[in-house]
Amino acid sequence: MARQAKQDRLPTRVEMRKRGMKLQDVLCPLCGDGSESSCHLFTACSFAMEVWARVASWCKLASIYAFEVRDLLLLPKDLKMRKQKTRTMHGIILTTLWNILIARNESIFQWKTNKVVDVVAKIKASSFF
Ligand SMILES: [Zn+2]
Repeated sequence: MARQAKQDRLPTRVEMRKRGMKLQDVLCPLCGDGSESSCHLFTACSFAMEVWARVASWCKLASIYAFEVRDLLLLPKDLKMRKQKTRTMHGIILTTLWNILIARNESIFQWKTNKVVDVVAKIKASSFF
């Protein structure tokens, strides 16, 4: 999933439209305010940005800013932490990406409106393991 997101190959609305699917709109289901590409979904979406801000706070980081999914995947190395912390941070980044994608899918397929706090709670619970 992370590699597909990094290469912008997830079946987001923008990608599906590029492949010829007729969609009413390509707006992001989480914020409703931007074309749903992988880049938007994980880095520019206001919902995702709030998730990242809370994850950063939980990890005692000043902030987590990214322009692309690749930036998020490289973040643990950029932070220059000890090896164990780098691995843990990488796991938290992947877990966060995964939970944002789940929130997106639930929004589309189950008409569920997720709250940022609930998504962050799932990230914390998943990251614990
Ligand atoms: Zn969005």
